[in-house]
Amino acid sequence: MLLLIKNSMRKNVTEYLDITEGLYSEKIAVEDANGCITFGEMKRNALKIAEFCVEQNIFKQPVCVYLPKSKEMVTSFVGTNYSGNFYVPLDIKSPDTRIRNILATLNPGLIITDEEHKDQVENFGLPTVTVGCLCSRKEADLSVVESARSRQIDTDPVYSIFTSGSTGIPKGVVISHRGVIDYIDWAVDTFHFTADAKIGNQAPFYFDNSIFDIYSCLLTGAKMVIIPETLFMFPVKLPEFVRDNDITTIFWVPTVMINVANSGVLSEIELPKLKNVVFCGEVMPNTQLNIWRKAQPQCTYANLYGPTEISDVCTYYIVDRPFKDSDSLPIGKACENMRIIILNEKNEIAKTNEQGEICVIGTGVSLGYWNNPEITQKAFIQNPVNPYYEERIYRTGDLAYVNDEGLIIYLGRMDNQVKVKGNRIELGEIENAAMCVGGVKGACAVFDEKNQKIVLFIESCEAFRLRKLNLELKKYIPNYMLPGDLVVMEKFPHTANDKIDRVTLKKSLG
Ligand code: AMP
Repeated sequence: MLLLIKNSMRKNVTEYLDITEGLYSEKIAVEDANGCITFGEMKRNALKIAEFCVEQNIFKQPVCVYLPKSKEMVTSFVGTNYSGNFYVPLDIKSPDTRIRNILATLNPGLIITDEEHKDQVENFGLPTVTVGCLCSRKEADLSVVESARSRQIDTDPVYSIFTSGSTGIPKGVVISHRGVIDYIDWAVDTFHFTADAKIGNQAPFYFDNSIFDIYSCLLTGAKMVIIPETLFMFPVKLPEFVRDNDITTIFWVPTVMINVANSGVLSEIELPKLKNVVFCGEVMPNTQLNIWRKAQPQCTYANLYGPTEISDVCTYYIVDRPFKDSDSLPIGKACENMRIIILNEKNEIAKTNEQGEICVIGTGVSLGYWNNPEITQKAFIQNPVNPYYEERIYRTGDLAYVNDEGLIIYLGRMDNQVKVKGNRIELGEIENAAMCVGGVKGACAVFDEKNQKIVLFIESCEAFRLRKLNLELKKYIPNYMLPGDLVVMEKFPHTANDKIDRVTLKKSLG
């Protein structure tokens, strides 16, 4: 409790590493496929990175981290924050065109990469340095770093994560130190994390679920084990990895949980050390949740909800009873320091069982989209039910209602945003990419819920093939956004006001 009271007074997440390095210098902080880093080593290297940033005269600026998921990536995040700057994790699998769009929006002060990607990154024409080069510097001068860090306040940015944008350009969501500090207080308290915990990380670092893993470990001295990405192609092997690495907590997207449950392996394996099974990012079906609960009854199961525009999560539900396959699993109630209001079509608070849009208030709400006041003003607005003082809310675009028990039930999206295998995708980003391909006159992407795939309709007189078109699309969008099916039409159906008739196109899928 004492730790938590003190923690709420912190103003920079790097203070976490100050504590854990003091207590557990020799203890492993992060383990990846190539080895481990202790808390002591991480702090020494992070300070070197910070000193370099200070020398470059950058402050409160974005620092991009273009690295494979690794302990070096976590160290770069912390180093960036020590210097009073904020980090932006980039997906090394994203096509260069998408990265260039992000960099054009950001104009970062620095890009941290490794030897393998150095030449590619230097082509972006921005200041670049390798993490290896930074970590081989002599010990940092603490006073230099401290003078930068102490100029920061807790409402300053800690990170920015880019998420799919409907106009074709990804949006950089900026989150404050305060948002992460309050969220991690809640997470550590709710899941009883101590230095003995071991968190098995699944989330890519350019996806905000990783915030839970990284900062719960940095605050408590727990170990973060980065699960090799290739293992996720073999769900049957994942529980073995959890067992062999004594993992105590997993925070995975439902897609992974479903694949593991469907593989049948859960009933054949004992995971005595596993205590918390946490999921977030998309609907978790009860059929697969029940398989997990039956096979591993010793665990606490938690359904977390939150968009990137919040410091990861804003509601939670600890599963306290069995649910029928056809039931909706609640997303629960607001986390500490967060408040949820459900606004109906009249912009009033919806009554119990009345559906409306989930709107979020609290310290975790994003500072806005970096360098994009227009879309920021649309999504982050004055609370319409509070005319008395300035109170920002984030309109999520998610539909929900509060049931008789006071629990929030998620109903789906109000727009063209979809989730495919846990990845957030604006269908507009795919359509914009398709429009860049020669011979495409019109594009409309729809999500086929039954088969869980994106179907791309294109208007063209040419005979396109899916594989060939996807080769073109790969230049603009990441693999997880590629359509699974293609329909070529000479002319799209239109609505009365001359918009592409998405409903008719979707219905044609049967
Ligand atoms: P992202 O920004 O990638 O975290 O995606 C956020 C979106 O994922 C939300 O706006 C919801 O539509 C969906 N989502 C997140 N958590 C849940 C959940 N527990 N159940 C259902 N949908 C969820």
